[in-house]
Amino acid sequence: MATDATGTGPDFAQRLLAWFDQHGRHDLPWQREHSPYRVWLSEIMLQQTRVETVIPYFERFVEAFPDIPSLARAPLDEVLHLWTGLGYYARARNLHRAAQLVTERHGGELPADPAALQALPGIGRSTAGAILAMAWQRRAPILDGNVKRVLARHGAIAGWPGQTAVANRLWARAEQLTPTARVADYTQAIMDLGATLCTRARPPCSQCPVAADCQARSADQVSAYPGRKPSAVTPVRRSLWLILRNREGEVLLERRPPQGIWGGLWSFPECPPDTPPTAVENLCADLGCEIRTTRPGAAGRHVFTHFKLDYQTREIDVHPTLRIAEGGRLRWVDPAAPGALGLPAPVHKLLVSLAASPARTQIA
Ligand code: SF4
Repeated sequence: MATDATGTGPDFAQRLLAWFDQHGRHDLPWQREHSPYRVWLSEIMLQQTRVETVIPYFERFVEAFPDIPSLARAPLDEVLHLWTGLGYYARARNLHRAAQLVTERHGGELPADPAALQALPGIGRSTAGAILAMAWQRRAPILDGNVKRVLARHGAIAGWPGQTAVANRLWARAEQLTPTARVADYTQAIMDLGATLCTRARPPCSQCPVAADCQARSADQVSAYPGRKPSAVTPVRRSLWLILRNREGEVLLERRPPQGIWGGLWSFPECPPDTPPTAVENLCADLGCEIRTTRPGAAGRHVFTHFKLDYQTREIDVHPTLRIAEGGRLRWVDPAAPGALGLPAPVHKLLVSLAASPARTQIA
């Protein structure tokens, strides 16, 4: 097989494409009925998330919102509800906002232009590259997490890709390798190679189409690439969640502010874990609830990228003293049927267990 001196010429793409034709993924839902919107949606959902997890979410999402204008018109709650369980909710908020901007600025059609794409919330250089290549066959490099791993190993590019100098070298390599022909297939192929073969741990290099000139492999240093992030202790935040239940067994949920963790999602009212009982009582009064009985509830930990959240819950049977305004930031929900709301995973889990244990006031 002809190989150029650096292993970065057209031969790299040819070998990868030949592998893709035989072993790549060709029947993913976003590869059927190809459209810029479906490519965009799949790219956003696939960030930090595995293909197998994304498929059912993608199918439900396009059924509810078949095009950009229908997504732009939808209430944010409905969008977040369909995202519940997929995590990284900023992706859903950005997608929704971007759909509205595409409708305002581009008549509801994604623009086939790198700068206009990157001006939309949630679309960085790599996502824009993937959309341009896969939706319009434009030659544009991509550099998602899987591709970074392949390129760092193949070219023995040392250092953590989060550092600008390392990222610049990887981008230059990606640019150099991207072919002009079959660019959509090449883009899918290099993502597939990273996801299915050049995996994080113990990749089966003997089956790899670019093994012949992979520098990490020939130096027997595969696990050294890409370089790891300099370690830092992950901080732990703590919170007390108040599970307020009325006589009917409904639970009070509060919409979180649009910015910050789980922005726009519905959660339990919260306070610092060391909040004294009188202050909890005052907080409940502010929420229009008079405390009847209270007891400690479940506790758990949720791990975010940059910190861990330890939550303790307090189950409080209450007597509501105020009527809650429709469409406001508070809502009583039946834990067994909370409705079409965006819920963080631990809140969803707690509601399921509450549904299985009827409110004590109901029994009393
Ligand atoms: S030879 Fe191994 S390490 Fe190198 S690109 Fe292929 S799978 Fe990755």
